[in-house]
Amino acid sequence: MAKAAAVAGVDVAAVEEHLSRYVVSCPLCKGVGQLGVAHEQCRIISSTDAKDGIAVVVVMCKRCGYLMPLAADQISG
Ligand SMILES: [Zn+2]
Repeated sequence: MAKAAAVAGVDVAAVEEHLSRYVVSCPLCKGVGQLGVAHEQCRIISSTDAKDGIAVVVVMCKRCGYLMPLAADQISG
């Protein structure tokens, strides 16, 4: 199995561009265009394998405060 390349970092500007380009609505309050970057980078770690995880950016709904993780590889791709 190929070793996953280490994620050097998340391009916050790319995330913000992604949020502005695609109409991302809040799953909680259905607010559109209310999402902004809350945390630049964190990781979701699998409970079964601590070494396996994905880099995510946490976006926050400015309307209701809902926090939503967004996988970094979905943004850059
Ligand atoms: Zn919301």
